[in-house]
Amino acid sequence: PPLYLQRYVTVQQILINENWKSRIKKVADFGCSELNFFKYMKHLHNINEILCVDIDEDTLNENVFKVHPLTVDYLKRRPNQLKVKVLAGDVSQPDVRLRGTDAVVAIELIEHLYPDSLEALQYNIFQYMKPLLAIFTTPNYEFNILFPDTKLFRHADHKFEWTREQFQSWALNIVTRFPNYTVQFDGIGPGPIGTESIGCSTQIAVFLRHSNDVDQLSEVPKSCREIITISSLHRE
Ligand code: SAM
Repeated sequence: PPLYLQRYVTVQQILINENWKSRIKKVADFGCSELNFFKYMKHLHNINEILCVDIDEDTLNENVFKVHPLTVDYLKRRPNQLKVKVLAGDVSQPDVRLRGTDAVVAIELIEHLYPDSLEALQYNIFQYMKPLLAIFTTPNYEFNILFPDTKLFRHADHKFEWTREQFQSWALNIVTRFPNYTVQFDGIGPGPIGTESIGCSTQIAVFLRHSNDVDQLSEVPKSCREIITISSLHRE
């Protein structure tokens, strides 16, 4: 299967891992782009609220039809309600609507951020939102030697691509700052036999919160602009 699909399936499986499945109800997908991962979340019955957030309002408007209920959703209904919100906003800015998020998903997002946003994102996610689970994927720079052309990065908008060591040190720095969390790493999309030493095409970090500290209820603005809210998608 294509790499993007391997990423979606990997993240989907993490969201329904038996260790925390029953505690993952509200999910935020940052850098949701064309809303393609939504399809892989809407059938997960542990989830009852999905927020899709991207800074690119035009892309959201062009793809917002993907969150509308389909005919098949009426025929094959969910046992519980699913609330969906699409928001134009910045992953580094807190928004009150993101409070209470149980899982944060950020598939191929961080490499698009400038250092100041990358830094601020940590505070929004691990200090303000404090999800039980936060999942990040990003390219593995070491894998690029397998690509025929020798461009520096895989995509013109990438601000960086990290080796496994760089990605892991970014993530380990987060768990040092936010000691409620631990992190685990894995790879998605292995190369041909004999290339194991360079790792997989995509790297993934999964942060897990281990304790619950007291929530300081500070005033938080609404930094995102609402594109659509679907208050009850295909309920029985
Ligand atoms: N997650 C998508 C998927 O799996 O289909 C792909 C993500 S795409 C490669 C990167 C996205 O990050 C773009 O849609 C871009 O607009 C978004 N983005 C860039 N900076 C952002 C920011 N500060 N906050 C939120 N989204 C941002």
